[in-house]
Amino acid sequence: MNVEEKLAKNIIKSGKVSHIKIRNEICAGCEKRYCMSVCPGNLYKISEETKEVIVEYSGCLECGTCMIACVRGAICWEYPGGEFGVQYRYG
Ligand code: SF4
Ligand code: SF4
Repeated sequence: MNVEEKLAKNIIKSGKVSHIKIRNEICAGCEKRYCMSVCPGNLYKISEETKEVIVEYSGCLECGTCMIACVRGAICWEYPGGEFGVQYRYG
């Protein structure tokens, strides 16, 4: 079983409110955009509507990498609330 197949076995129960907040005023002028290259779920994108950085929090694997990678401190990250979040099936 490869990594993609293992990830597909996970169960993610997402709440209505994002556990990841992006301070877009800080993102303005960020050229590196590490958040987009480090997320294993490829969840960070630029909104076609607003042209701002957005995250598809419902697919979050709770690794915390994005928060650490954003050296500008634009990402506020918390674990999802009780009963929500990822349930790993294969480590
Ligand atoms: S979240 Fe951080 S790394 Fe990503 S675009 Fe904003 S400032 Fe840059
Ligand atoms: S915590 Fe990990 S999986 Fe979730 S958005 Fe950040 S980098 Fe992606």
